[in-house]
Amino acid sequence: MDASDHSRPRSVWAVVAAAGEGRRFGTDLPKQFVPAAGAPLLHHTLRALRASACLDGLVAVVPAGRLADPELLPAEMRSRPDLELRVVAGGARRRDSVRCGLEALPASCDVVLVHDGARPAVSRSLVERVLAGVERSGACVPVLPVAETVWEIDASGRARHTRLRDRLRLAQTPQGFSREILEAAYARPVEAELTDDASLVESAGYPVETVAGDPENIKVTVPADLVRLGLGAPRVGFGYDVHRLVEGRRLVLGGVEIPSGRGLEGHSDADVALHALCDAVLGAAGCGDIGRLFPDDDARWAGADSLELLRLAVGEAARAGFRPSSADLTIVAERPKLAAYLPRMADRIAPVLGVERHAVTVKATTSEGLGFAGEGRGMAAYATAVLVPGWRGPADSGPSRPGPGGEP
Ligand code: MG
Repeated sequence: MDASDHSRPRSVWAVVAAAGEGRRFGTDLPKQFVPAAGAPLLHHTLRALRASACLDGLVAVVPAGRLADPELLPAEMRSRPDLELRVVAGGARRRDSVRCGLEALPASCDVVLVHDGARPAVSRSLVERVLAGVERSGACVPVLPVAETVWEIDASGRARHTRLRDRLRLAQTPQGFSREILEAAYARPVEAELTDDASLVESAGYPVETVAGDPENIKVTVPADLVRLGLGAPRVGFGYDVHRLVEGRRLVLGGVEIPSGRGLEGHSDADVALHALCDAVLGAAGCGDIGRLFPDDDARWAGADSLELLRLAVGEAARAGFRPSSADLTIVAERPKLAAYLPRMADRIAPVLGVERHAVTVKATTSEGLGFAGEGRGMAAYATAVLVPGWRGPADSGPSRPGPGGEP
């Protein structure tokens, strides 16, 4: 069909920019791929665009390393015949990625929506507003008024108040363009400081219409954004472990060495409490179990400090997009009496989990003389861990807030 045939309906495609590596969030997992209510965040964004029922097709621009990932796209979208789906690798910067997306558009496309992969709450009405703006003006950006006071700073970081707030707007996506205009803007050399497509188009000399954005259409930037969108449900993991008590071994429980005639037998330091906790953390994050992560036929873990194993388990969970929020442990042991050591165990565990001390509980019970624990042949431990979406690894779990004296 001839592109100049104005009698046919416009063909609308979305280019979804999801190739960013998100390194500034301190994880290996770019935020558009963090797990959110059972699916990568990008799935929610793609589903929302599909649900707008305004598109003829969609180009997802993803990191090159993820092209072969079978979970990259929602299963139902791979098989939907009325929404054509293309996937391409992006480039180093967002604009390189959008350019890759533009090159993947079919000849029939004449209107392009560019959307952030990390904006899953895009609504049908917003898409319709933007498309109406493109119809009128050729280029349209949804904007929000600035709710907070805006300061300009000088080179030394000193604030210089600006009084422009009434005329300032925050830009959202999807930003819509007639294809010719967007491609013409991308054909020019791009100024470094232009960070979105509408500013690129505007600097190329085309008028850009603004329409009302949607305050719910947030770009996920911090874990709390997922919670706000209802995509951040906590996950609970459970762990259980048993070790035999033998002569001639140290007794280490919850990372604390306890004077005792006998200790737990095992490949590592045999800290039954931390092993249960490792499994709880790994279970909540969907990362398997301790046996898979630290096989007991691997010489690396011989005599290992189980606090280090816990640290590695927390790192594994962080790579899957989760961080601990609280933990609860019960150790089952007939003797020695453990009550006096329990607070110190929590002191050791909390920093490794990256949580406040009060978020860790360690309890002990006897087994009333019954079974292997009651007969003093071994010890058992049970643990639960609650994990929340997050990409704050154990490496940066130190104080991130100003102390009491640092509050403004
Ligand atoms: Mg064990």
